[in-house]
Amino acid sequence: RREAGDPVILFNGRDGEFGARLADVAKKHVMIEVGALRRHQRATPDVWLCFAPLKKDAVDFLVEKATELGVAAFQPVFTKHTAATRLNLERLAANATEAAEQTERLTLPAIRPPLSLEELVAGWDGTRRIILCAEAGPAQPIGEALSALKSDVRETNAWAVICGPEGGFARSELDLLSKLPFVTPVGLGPRILRADTAALAALAVFQSILGDGADRPPAPLTPIGQSPE
Ligand code: SAM
Repeated sequence: RREAGDPVILFNGRDGEFGARLADVAKKHVMIEVGALRRHQRATPDVWLCFAPLKKDAVDFLVEKATELGVAAFQPVFTKHTAATRLNLERLAANATEAAEQTERLTLPAIRPPLSLEELVAGWDGTRRIILCAEAGPAQPIGEALSALKSDVRETNAWAVICGPEGGFARSELDLLSKLPFVTPVGLGPRILRADTAALAALAVFQSILGDGADRPPAPLTPIGQSPE
């Protein structure tokens, strides 16, 4: 349990990361002395993960790992074969916050309210391109597909990866999605991956081809006024 005088690190998703110190810790409030800027805020890829709710442990794992992989927002989507019927959004947000702190991101992923697949498609802003993990039907290998998108598609920087549930997409859902001009069906190889594995594999390839995979973890700035170690 933290006490007055303990050092903490603050970020707000806009202004960067600051060193700070707890000045007063009371039951209902904390006073903090904000110190020097440690890291500048930097732009991160605008990539959403649209996922069919999975069983509890798999969702917790998926949200934690996808947060580490830089997802900007989680969009739960109920599809025909989605097994889970309920989703604890507060728990998802808590898991995402903890993972963001651990991975030293300076942003928290948004947790969007769940939609049916039909609602998602009906309300989708077509300037955000969707990468559809298609376990069946026509699809390009993900590496080739994203490399082609990188050279062809310049006007968008808004992306989404969508993955089906444990029971997979219904064929009609794959057909519906694959017909949309802003959707690119991709294959993840010859094996059928678990839904969480597929989502994370697709996100890792996305970051390395279209995201920030080439960046390196930034060394904290030495606090202003102190010499580097
Ligand atoms: N219905 C599938 C089957 O044949 O057993 C299982 C679906 S899989 C467990 C869950 C989701 O992961 C799929 O809906 C798809 O989005 C993605 N996925 C799994 N393996 C994939 C692959 N090899 N290529 C593309 N997507 C894949």
